[in-house]
Amino acid sequence: MSFFAGFFLALWAGVKQIFKHRYTLRYPEQKLDIFMINNQKSGGYEFDAKKQVGTAGFKGRHILYMDKCTGCSLCAIACEGIADCIDMVKVDKSFVQNKKSQFPQIDYGRCVFCGFCVDACPFDCLFETPFYELATTDKRSLVYTPEMLNEYPQLKGEYVKFIPDKKSGAHHG
Ligand code: SF4
Ligand code: SF4
Repeated sequence: MSFFAGFFLALWAGVKQIFKHRYTLRYPEQKLDIFMINNQKSGGYEFDAKKQVGTAGFKGRHILYMDKCTGCSLCAIACEGIADCIDMVKVDKSFVQNKKSQFPQIDYGRCVFCGFCVDACPFDCLFETPFYELATTDKRSLVYTPEMLNEYPQLKGEYVKFIPDKKSGAHHG
């Protein structure tokens, strides 16, 4: 191949990308919005205890509904053979369904996001969310108390729309 043929071939390889959708993000300034897909709210991994059926979803930081949790410890028992990162801890608030005021606390320094604790919860009060930004320089701040898990994760930064595409896979807006 001549020098000019090679030059124009290389140029064309770059130019034709201009007309294609963008696939790269300037993370961490930009993040893919996996909370909304096709204008529908996309949650994380959930498990319906009555139907014994899981709902596919991103396995990120948990959400704990303290007003439904009975403190039965089944989530902690399920985690024992996996990462042993759930401790049942006492909180100051009182809830009628939880006589001992004991709730799960999760150490994300050890959690492998398997979702077994979600499957084990018989009261539909422990799910996973699509939130994954948990990095920190302080290991102790990876321990999430029941009150922290009770708050839905705060989204920070610019979230870019995720567009599934049957032809090209997926791209963003
Ligand atoms: S998702 Fe994390 S907390 Fe739950 S069972 Fe798996 S390792 Fe344990
Ligand atoms: S989150 Fe579910 S499994 Fe865990 S203690 Fe509460 S009710 Fe029991």
